[in-house]
Amino acid sequence: MRVLIISDIHANLPAFETVLEHAQGDWDYAWCLGDVVGYGPNPNECCDLLKTLPHLCLAGNHDWAALNRLDIRTFNADARKAVTWTQETLTPENTDYLAALPTTFVLGQYTLVHASPREPIWEYILDPLIAALNFTQFETPVCLVGHTHTPVIYQRLNERGDTEAIPPAYGEPKDLSNQRLIINPGSVGQPRDNNPDAAYAILHVEDMVFEHRRVPYPVEKTQEMMRAVDMPDRLVTRLKHGW
Ligand code: ZN
Repeated sequence: MRVLIISDIHANLPAFETVLEHAQGDWDYAWCLGDVVGYGPNPNECCDLLKTLPHLCLAGNHDWAALNRLDIRTFNADARKAVTWTQETLTPENTDYLAALPTTFVLGQYTLVHASPREPIWEYILDPLIAALNFTQFETPVCLVGHTHTPVIYQRLNERGDTEAIPPAYGEPKDLSNQRLIINPGSVGQPRDNNPDAAYAILHVEDMVFEHRRVPYPVEKTQEMMRAVDMPDRLVTRLKHGW
């Protein structure tokens, strides 16, 4: 089975549509690692489109925020404003859809979570040290995570737990077999690695071959829709710069 791996769509329909078009014909099933909504202008459109795909989806912190499951006082003012708008905008059907999402999936060789195996909703795996601490928290060879919006592969090098970060090699398939890895596909709708292009990945599940991908999308379209619903300027601007 070939899987489309997407994460952190963040209610950005132009980015999501562009990824689906770019990946067309290359996958049979989609794994979505959470944060379908939050920040972006199209929470319902993104839930509706995702629901049309053969897929599974995990819950992210922004999905939980939209469900009022989190205390959003920990969010900054801009994020809080986006959360409130998302809560008011989501249809009851899409709120129910998000409410039913699980926090962890284990499928064969792969563990799937939004944030980290240790803290599936919250922890940011931002460096090899945090990754190293997480390798003891899942049983499968490979764990797929989102949440940081940065594509990367962390590899455990030895029994002592030394871990290194491998930057993404876009369009170059990588053999994952016989390794312990934590892999982040990057973010579809709000990249934060100083590259505004939408990020996703393709995984050949049984062969264990993985490929990071990147594709430009019409950022201005998303920005225009965000301005029309009065989203904070900082959130609009950051999409153009990918941070
Ligand atoms: Zn996110």
